Amino acid sequence: MNKINTPVLKIDGNFEIISWNTSAEVFLNNILNKSPKTQLSLEEIFPPGIWTKFRSDFKTNQGIFHNIYTFSETETIEVFSSPSLDDGENIKCFSLCLKAVSPKENSSSENIVRLKNILENSSLAIFLSDPSGPIVEVNRAACKLFGYSLKELKQLSREDIIQMNSDLETAIAQRNKAGEIRTELVGIKKNGETFPCEVHSVIYTNNEGEKRTSTTIVDISDRKKQELIAENSKQAFQSLFDYNPDAVYSFDLKGSFVDLNQAALNLVEGSREKAREINFLPLIAPEDRDRVMMHSSKAVSGEVQRYQTNFISLKGTKKVLDVTNFPIYVNKKITGVYGIAKDISKQVEIEQKLQEEHNMFRAIIDYIPDHIFVINEKHETILTNHSFYKNYYGVENEQESLGLTALEFFDKEEAKRVIEDNTQVMNKGIPVINREDIVQDFNGKKNYTLLTKVPFRFGDNKKGLVGISRNITEIKEKEKALEELNEALKKHADELALSNKELEQFAYIASHDLQEPLRMVTSFLTQLKKKYNNKLDDRAQQYIYFAHDGATRMRQIILDLLEYSRVGRVAHKVTAVNLEHLVSEVLSLQKKSIEEKNAKIEIGVLPELEVEEPVLRQLFSNLIGNALKYHSKERQPEIKISFLEKEKYWEFKITDNGIGIEEEFKEQIFIIFQRLHQRDEYDGTGIGLAICKKIVDNFGGKIWVDSRPGEGSSFYFTIPKQF
Ligand code: ADP
Repeated sequence: MNKINTPVLKIDGNFEIISWNTSAEVFLNNILNKSPKTQLSLEEIFPPGIWTKFRSDFKTNQGIFHNIYTFSETETIEVFSSPSLDDGENIKCFSLCLKAVSPKENSSSENIVRLKNILENSSLAIFLSDPSGPIVEVNRAACKLFGYSLKELKQLSREDIIQMNSDLETAIAQRNKAGEIRTELVGIKKNGETFPCEVHSVIYTNNEGEKRTSTTIVDISDRKKQELIAENSKQAFQSLFDYNPDAVYSFDLKGSFVDLNQAALNLVEGSREKAREINFLPLIAPEDRDRVMMHSSKAVSGEVQRYQTNFISLKGTKKVLDVTNFPIYVNKKITGVYGIAKDISKQVEIEQKLQEEHNMFRAIIDYIPDHIFVINEKHETILTNHSFYKNYYGVENEQESLGLTALEFFDKEEAKRVIEDNTQVMNKGIPVINREDIVQDFNGKKNYTLLTKVPFRFGDNKKGLVGISRNITEIKEKEKALEELNEALKKHADELALSNKELEQFAYIASHDLQEPLRMVTSFLTQLKKKYNNKLDDRAQQYIYFAHDGATRMRQIILDLLEYSRVGRVAHKVTAVNLEHLVSEVLSLQKKSIEEKNAKIEIGVLPELEVEEPVLRQLFSNLIGNALKYHSKERQPEIKISFLEKEKYWEFKITDNGIGIEEEFKEQIFIIFQRLHQRDEYDGTGIGLAICKKIVDNFGGKIWVDSRPGEGSSFYFTIPKQF
């Protein structure tokens, strides 16, 4: 191998000397007054300023570079650095070729080297070309940008790499005129892809006096994208601001409005100009101002705030707003606050209404004595009213009852029955209404209940059941007691009916059989009077008279008794009876008495009824007879017979203007043999009204009297339409 005269140093990646040739040793001694040594760092050979520059160039170019370093006014060294490879591809060491250059040579060659360096190492794509188009020189960044090799690119013209259009033409014309142009054009890559680029082109004259252009081209795709994104964001923000259905606004650090969208203006109920003159605080309801101020000051200190407030517009309209405030940053400094306000008045109103309804619902279900519960498909209790959780679960509040199932509450058998029953209701969707059931409470007490279970679906379509149970134990016990009482009563009534029947039987037999001996007494008394009249003294005759009179009265009583006992005993044919005719007949039988008393009788319109005629005849006969008998001596008797048809019965009325009856005797007069007068005053045995009552009782009707003593009486009786 030939020896070279050029000084060469071999260094490792840490700038430590590995080896050197003789020329290098001489060179370093002469120029720097230093001798090379193994492992000696270049830092110790080069002056500090040179060392720093050298190291930077070395690192930037990864050891492959060429530069000129001025050591002093007289000493300038040109350095060529290149790596040496081992057998493989690895860098073994770096060779530094050193060359002393004269200052003159240095200045022009340094400039060229510098320029070349700049050209080569620039990240900008640089083209030196003829102003007419052909490319003369390009750098690596240009090759990289357009995807061509250096050789390929040098053969191209301007139009091959820049889209030919009016923009390009205008730019060339302007540059040629002004000598320089900076503009945005469209670059074309080797693969045909186009991209936006910023082109800076300058015209200059080279040493040979030729016009040249130096053009730098920068790919501005990213910048354009960023600009587009920024523009889109700006537009999106503006649209969101303008068209947001919620009120969007901003205010400065003092709280004065800066900008408001239409929705905000609608809320404020004022023009944009008017709104910009005011502070937001007066629009807040007085009771909320302190709180809202606190939120706003937090927002201007950088905290996002969300709160609700009552709002009053400029025109006094009240609203409830849900507000979000966040700080506006300009250059990392907070300059104001953005706000978004949602009108939630309706929602708040609905919520309040819902709350009210819920409270009402709770009040209703909690004060109702029935037990109310709701269970879900897992048989868990999800709602109970006061009555239920207190009396059935034996807990103090609803919360403690929630989540419980029948299993935790009833014994195993009972729980199984309840769960099966509930499953049936939920699955089949058929409600159980008012079913009598026996349910155990938390004390183990069995209660009679009236149970209703209604299936329903929750919002998520899951099955559930509403249960209402009423404790009817007390009612049941009362019912039982009543039943027992009824039974006892019925037994008593049966016994009474039997004894009445026996009594009637007795009365009939007695009155019937008594007649015969009585007739004997009367007839022998008559004989006694007839045959021994002259032989008896006055006293004896008086005795016979009393005995006869007593027997006569006794006979009458027996007859009356017989008649009374006959009422209802003998069945008569039911026929259509015209009551007007019937009453007329009764009156004609009493004609003598009517005429004697000069009584005035008025018969109203009376109906035709399907009845037993003899019975009705007796009824009217007794009542009309009494009206005549108990007339007032002070006035002409007036008797009215009338009738009213009611829904379920006919009501008859016999009114007189007679002596009347004291209030206290109104009930008594209907009892057998009860009379209010002596016989010498008014004749009678006191059986007439008792018979009337028995007849009406047999119909299932009622009989009563309304009377004013001294003025007259009205006797009423009713006949049910169905008897
Ligand atoms: P009697 O007429 O035979 O006494 P009643 O049973 O018919 O028996 O009447 C009972 C009593 O009711 C009578 O004694 C009489 O005092 C009173 N009484 C009945 N009808 C009238 C009447 N129309 N006005 C006043 N008192 C009456």
